[in-house]
Amino acid sequence: MNMKVIVMGCGFGGVEVASKLSKLRKQSKDLNIFMIDRRARLEYQPAYPEILSGKVTAEEISGDLNKFASKINAEFINEAVINIDFKAKKVKTSDSEIPYDFLVISIGAEQTFFGIPGAEELSYSVDTLKGAIATKKALDNLDYSKKIRIAVIGAGLAGVEVAGELVDYFRDRASAKIYLVERMPRILPAFPTENISAYVSKFLSHRGVEILTETTVQEVNEEEITFKEGKKLPYDLIIWTAGIRPNSLLEKLELPKEKGWLKVDPYLRVEGMTDVFAVGDMVYFENEGVRSGQNVEEAERQAKVAAENIIRTIKNLSFKKKALPKKYYYLYGMKEEKLRRYRPKNTIQNPRAFISLGEDKAVIYYGGMMFKAFAYRMKKFVEWRYMRRFR
Ligand SMILES: Cc1cc2nc3c(=O)[nH]c(=O)nc-3n(C[C@H](O)[C@H](O)[C@H](O)COP(=O)(O)OP(=O)(O)OC[C@H]3O[C@@H](n4cnc5c(N)ncnc54)[C@H](O)[C@@H]3O)c2cc1C
Repeated sequence: MNMKVIVMGCGFGGVEVASKLSKLRKQSKDLNIFMIDRRARLEYQPAYPEILSGKVTAEEISGDLNKFASKINAEFINEAVINIDFKAKKVKTSDSEIPYDFLVISIGAEQTFFGIPGAEELSYSVDTLKGAIATKKALDNLDYSKKIRIAVIGAGLAGVEVAGELVDYFRDRASAKIYLVERMPRILPAFPTENISAYVSKFLSHRGVEILTETTVQEVNEEEITFKEGKKLPYDLIIWTAGIRPNSLLEKLELPKEKGWLKVDPYLRVEGMTDVFAVGDMVYFENEGVRSGQNVEEAERQAKVAAENIIRTIKNLSFKKKALPKKYYYLYGMKEEKLRRYRPKNTIQNPRAFISLGEDKAVIYYGGMMFKAFAYRMKKFVEWRYMRRFR
């Protein structure tokens, strides 16, 4: 049975789905894998903050998707998807309509500015490689005849890492004041235990970062940031690292959602569908009060499960095509395969992460504990091992 699988969005989730499908291909011959992305290169997002300090280059932390697709015997289409016709089973780009038998949606998340006046227009960000490069350029072009003030808004994982890399950036340059602004009472508020916030806070403060917690941006104008609490902060550059929202294409698609995030069943099929799967940051999955996290580890875990379930569904379909009643399957050594359940591990309730802090230092957060020895080296090893597949 000739089957066509489209993987739409080739970040961490999409690349892993395509890889796994390609490995499992032997079990389901005549499987054609198509990878679609609006970008020509995969971007290793966890390394974006290091673009600012110049520790990595754009070339080093991105990989050619076309080359990757040929390696795994898939076809890469470098176009942006603008809509999906689920009835006709077609993905629409501005140039073409591409039919599919199975679709995997893995288009990720986007930066949100929460509709705060002036925030989007006047801030730089590091949520894309292009954005990180533009931010670095803006840093290079600041007027260094006076003291520079940089405000990093949002002290989650990305904000903390950006602050650390900024200290490295300014080490050999004119003096600068770096402010790390967080609306919640502590930095890294998504991590359930306070030990990590206290450690990172002390580390960054020691390096000269001024941390402002319980400080909420209300408005931004050309000169200053106004906070809800009444204070104002004059600035030279704002780097926005506060919050993500679902990919805006999802708004167009009439699919089951929770606060805009795409709802999936335990097999990673979009709720109510059998031929459309979803993985990665834009997925909403909750089971018994545990919600999957939005991170590379979960995107890849979901990708493996979704790929396996596509193959199992195809196998089950081919049994049915033979019109063989289920009770005779055993005579032919066949069994209808059950789909594999997705079980998240890096969750909202129990997150784990590498957090780099600049100066070649990092900390690993795992099971509520912190590990510092070799943390930065391990983080860089994981990056090197991942990017190797694009060399
Ligand atoms: C600065 C920063 C630091 C981070 N650090 C870490 C970290 O240390 N550890 C960690 O686990 N996670 C980290 N993350 C989060 C991590 O990068 C995401 O969880 C991960 O990328 C999610 O993978 P994904 O496949 O869902 O989405 P993505 O990797 O974002 O991939 C989505 C893909 O879809 C494509 N796409 C989107 N819309 C369309 C369209 N309409 N048509 C065609 N293609 C489209 C995009 O071009 C992209 O290639 C970080 C993120 C950022 C921004």
